[in-house]
Amino acid sequence: MTTNRPAFAVAEPSAEQRPSVVWEESPCPLCRRNTNSLLLEAPDPLPPPGTGFVFAVVRCDHCGLIYTNPRPDARTISQFYPSDYHPHRRPGKMRHSRPARPIWSRLLGRPCSERRGVLPWPGPGRLLDFGCGAGSFLKTMAAQGWEVTGLDANVGAVKQVQEQHGLTALVGTLPHSDLQPGSFDVVTMWHSLEHVHRPLEILREVYRLLVPGGKLIVATPNIQSLPFYLFRQDWFGLDLPRHLTHFTPSTLAAMLQTAGFRPEPVRQFRHGDWLRSSARLATRQGNRSVWSRLLRWKPAARLTAWVCYAIGVSDCMMCIAERPT
Ligand SMILES: [Zn+2]
Repeated sequence: MTTNRPAFAVAEPSAEQRPSVVWEESPCPLCRRNTNSLLLEAPDPLPPPGTGFVFAVVRCDHCGLIYTNPRPDARTISQFYPSDYHPHRRPGKMRHSRPARPIWSRLLGRPCSERRGVLPWPGPGRLLDFGCGAGSFLKTMAAQGWEVTGLDANVGAVKQVQEQHGLTALVGTLPHSDLQPGSFDVVTMWHSLEHVHRPLEILREVYRLLVPGGKLIVATPNIQSLPFYLFRQDWFGLDLPRHLTHFTPSTLAAMLQTAGFRPEPVRQFRHGDWLRSSARLATRQGNRSVWSRLLRWKPAARLTAWVCYAIGVSDCMMCIAERPT
């Protein structure tokens, strides 16, 4: 069945609030087919007054990719990003990375933020961070000797990286005219791939920018997770409409392979904070389930996140993929 659903409003925003959002129907971002089925509808989770819109999330009938459809187009989606959106916070408010000890990290399923100081490359190389935000990761890697470049659509965030850290950062997306083919050893995408309108095209451009044998590291939420099934439309990882593609381990690997990469097995991470955020959001939306009450409690959230990790149903995942030589 081909869907033709507009995004609709439960409380119609005023003209001043949303002066020029342009909506678009998208074919599947992976296989480009147009047949899909509705998975759920959910509101923008921003705190009140929010945006008032409810969005549809669909699953491609052909390849199984889950994505937001319809969606604001690439030129107007910035209206849905508040100025204090998490990745763009000032570095002083962000927790800095520290190198993880691989065995303990693997055993405990540490959150991505604690693994960001370790990259699968023999010694410092040339790094591109796609969706660099305020630049805390770039700063960490530059301190380890890496030659770093940041790329972000947010002008303020890029300016912050340049002026406060003195590091190279560019405004925009991929392809970018200032970036040359084969000029990076590692490209990182920490929770940025789910934000882009054309993820497969972005990955193909990353392939072009990497040297043969270069590594791509992608971290995204995992919709095939216990937290999603517990919270559904209140799951923190949906973040509509800012998250446009909602990956599972298999669709993430499939997209990487389609772009030409050789992906390693997808790894999962625990995120007690995400569970607590989902529980708080569910409560705010009037969901009084036992899970929304229990998981606002930090020890319960941490224990549940660890159980999710241990049985392979965490809501955060990462994949390392190689550009074949
Ligand atoms: Zn598809």
